[in-house]
Amino acid sequence: MRNANVYERLGARTVVNAKGPVTRLSGGLLDPEVADAMVEASRHCVNMTDLHARASEIIAETTGAESGVVTAGAAAGLMVGAAACIAGLDPAKMERLPDTAGLKNEIIVAQSHRNFYDRLVRAAGARIVQAGISDRLAGTGVRDPEPWEIDAAITDATAAVLYLAMPGQRPPLADVVKVAHARGVPVLVDAASQLPPAGNLKRFIAEGADLVAFSGGKAIGGPQASGILAGRRDLIASAALQMLDNDVLFENFDPPARFIDKSKLRGLPRNGVGRGCKVGKEEIVGLLVALQRFAGGDEEIRRKAWLKTTEAVAAALAGTRHAEIAIVPDSYKPGMPGVRLTLDEKRAGLSGLEFARRLERGEPAVYADVNRAEQGIVTFAPFSLRPDEPAIIGKRVKEILG
Ligand SMILES: *Cc1c(COP(=O)(O)O)cnc(C)c1O
Repeated sequence: MRNANVYERLGARTVVNAKGPVTRLSGGLLDPEVADAMVEASRHCVNMTDLHARASEIIAETTGAESGVVTAGAAAGLMVGAAACIAGLDPAKMERLPDTAGLKNEIIVAQSHRNFYDRLVRAAGARIVQAGISDRLAGTGVRDPEPWEIDAAITDATAAVLYLAMPGQRPPLADVVKVAHARGVPVLVDAASQLPPAGNLKRFIAEGADLVAFSGGKAIGGPQASGILAGRRDLIASAALQMLDNDVLFENFDPPARFIDKSKLRGLPRNGVGRGCKVGKEEIVGLLVALQRFAGGDEEIRRKAWLKTTEAVAAALAGTRHAEIAIVPDSYKPGMPGVRLTLDEKRAGLSGLEFARRLERGEPAVYADVNRAEQGIVTFAPFSLRPDEPAIIGKRVKEILG
């Protein structure tokens, strides 16, 4: 029995998260340095525009972008990023969102890039225009549109192109940027889960993206409800203006010019479409400390720490009946190791899905990667595990499989 923690005191329960930093399992664990910084942040008040402005500089340094803003997650970044692409620096347009009748309100997405997060750009008022057909029939392997098909989808109403970053994604970002920029259209990149490698913090900006959204609560190791939107100074200013509480007299509004250039504004939107995605000072500070650790840290040291936890899980699972245990180097994503358990469903008398279900419904609940449970494969990822949890995983698996 573990000592009573705040969850138990509140009558809630904790779980063993061997899936990784997913939102439904509360992300990961904060490094004490990050958590302490958040507590310290909670002990002072600040001018939020000034704090955001300083955050912008740190994001700029770590991403190579002109500017940046801390958002309530990558999804929130997509929403305020889309709002920025639609409204620009016109407060009248900001005031109208999410009503976009008569505004540039189309956001082009390759059909093969479509996913359930792209509704966030619609939440800002955009209409999604799909380019290409994801053909699963063609033996030629045609899946993704060509850059010219994205070009062909651009009209006078196009506000942006939304690009989902993934390893090996097609068409290449640089090619999409080329056709979009030739028509004066910005490119908004969803790179929520493209870290590590830490080099990707700079990569999409370097390839020409106008805005890039990252999750703060995934590999960066920031608060679960944090993210980064990095990019062009004018678009970040617009995104920030639509998130911040600007309920002040325009005469008294005095943001640092590198963050929001007041001389480019004819007035202030009060509480914009992004207000529902606000972040607190604690999230901003926690994210910044985590970001500096992530960007400055040694990738190899991090990988070794994950590998060590992975090996502890493998050791705890050694000798499990009716299952093969193997360490896989790229379970969660490239470079992130994990332990793959392959169940002999016949001999165990148990399907992979039922095995996963029992793990999740046990005490304590153990959540693993069950994407391939139907093939009898369950994978344990180290990223969100506490030091005592590899042994708990071993115990629970052996209770189920004998
Ligand atoms: C996780 C994820 C998101 C959402 O990120 P949050 O930081 O949780 O808001 C968006 N897009 C993709 C591709 C993701 O993997």
